[in-house]
Amino acid sequence: MAVASLERELAKVAGEDAVVPPNASLVTDMTQLPGRADAVVFPSSAEAVAATLAWCYEHDVPLTPRGGGTGFAGGAVPDGGVVLGLERLTRVRSFDPELWRMTVEAGATTATVHRLTRESGLLFAPDPGAAELSQIGGNIATNAAGPHAFKYGATGRWVSGLEVALAPGELVTIGGNIRKDVESYDLKSLLVGSEGTLGIVTAAWLSLIPAPERVLPVVAFHADFRAGCAAIERVLGSGIRAAALEFLDAETLASSAASYEPGMPERAGFMTIAEADGGADEAQRMRAELVEALSEDALAVHTPETAPELEALWRWRGGMAFAVIARRGTAHSEDIVVPLDRLAEAVEGTIEIGRRHDLPALSFGHAGDGNLHSTFLLEPGNEGELARAWKACDDLFDLAVRLGGSISGEHGLGTLKGGKLRRYRQPRALELHAAVKAAFDPKNLLNPGKKLP
Ligand SMILES: Cc1cc2nc3c(=O)[nH]c(=O)nc-3n(C[C@H](O)[C@H](O)[C@H](O)COP(=O)(O)OP(=O)(O)OC[C@H]3O[C@@H](n4cnc5c(N)ncnc54)[C@H](O)[C@@H]3O)c2cc1C
Repeated sequence: MAVASLERELAKVAGEDAVVPPNASLVTDMTQLPGRADAVVFPSSAEAVAATLAWCYEHDVPLTPRGGGTGFAGGAVPDGGVVLGLERLTRVRSFDPELWRMTVEAGATTATVHRLTRESGLLFAPDPGAAELSQIGGNIATNAAGPHAFKYGATGRWVSGLEVALAPGELVTIGGNIRKDVESYDLKSLLVGSEGTLGIVTAAWLSLIPAPERVLPVVAFHADFRAGCAAIERVLGSGIRAAALEFLDAETLASSAASYEPGMPERAGFMTIAEADGGADEAQRMRAELVEALSEDALAVHTPETAPELEALWRWRGGMAFAVIARRGTAHSEDIVVPLDRLAEAVEGTIEIGRRHDLPALSFGHAGDGNLHSTFLLEPGNEGELARAWKACDDLFDLAVRLGGSISGEHGLGTLKGGKLRRYRQPRALELHAAVKAAFDPKNLLNPGKKLP
């Protein structure tokens, strides 16, 4: 169908002002992979989302859901067809602070939900880094996590219900304001993390908890990753229920030491950020335990306390992805996950893979979850390095699986790793994945080419 008539048809379905011409920023995400779309639609209601899906299904037009475009896997990068942006679905449908719950449309930003809940003394626990831009629908579609997922879990744990547009174009409600539900197969969990390949989330019922009264981080520096990883295992072995347990290796510190205001010890080769939270006394007690567990062999231990110090620490940590990219101009950053007792091997393995492919390599991430952002630093436009980086990533995925882990702990497979499952998972598991996809999306029009082979 010609683009002009496609846009006219979509305007009839989704509303006159809903259709906008595609531009480069609407067809890519953080990967900067160049996508291609015939039309972009921003519906203003869940019903208009379902109607757009119905139209696309009837006319065999592929459709790519788009949230804030902050994904790192190319999940929102279309290869033709229609991009359906959720950014106009921002309504908070209900908020009951005294019942610790909120129902919000998919296009509300993560930061909006954080702000509203914080104002009522509550916490929406998932804290992925690009909160001002990422949307609740995108968080659900990627099951986004963040530093505090160590204690609180990823987004899916905080979703008790979904409203979702399903093929061939129907709005369906799954779950709701209920805290338990075993009446049927767990469709909600299938949709969480499905990267827009099974349905389009239009609204979600979110569970909240009272915000901790006090939050007290501990920052420890060790000489190398072996000493640092041993300290992290000591934290767990001591039974401390830290809220966050993050790590940064030597090369990551080299990228970002200058902007760490308290200053780092000269020989620092590994940094751990742990956080105690809870009631005031509980947080103080937990911080003391963290200091004790992390102090052995440490070069220094910092205990920031004031609100500006805490803010500065997490802002610095949040900017890490960009600090490492700035080192050489660009980077390939992955999100492998391994069992916690294999973390040191994964940190060392990342460096070794970089060495083998002649690329500077580093890792940082969510130590408590065994989740590493293993990163290869590249010079922009250097095709040789780019080709070697792809090979290095394949070696990295092999390493993660060999260590008993998975090739994605946070960002999903999207375009970048679409199809990689075939190499790592058993045929029967792959068959079931294909069957699930076919049941939700028999025409393979929902974000085709992503996640599955
Ligand atoms: C600085 C920075 C820090 C980050 N830190 C973290 C982190 O700590 N943890 C983490 O997990 N991620 C992190 N991310 C990655 C990213 O922010 C998350 O994956 C986020 O959840 C993506 O949300 P989005 O709205 O931007 O989705 P998009 O990037 O727009 O889309 C992501 C995927 O979800 C699908 N999708 C989007 N909305 C919907 C919907 N309503 N229904 C169905 N499918 C949909 C898309 O098709 C695509 O496949 C970070 C990104 C940046 C830039």
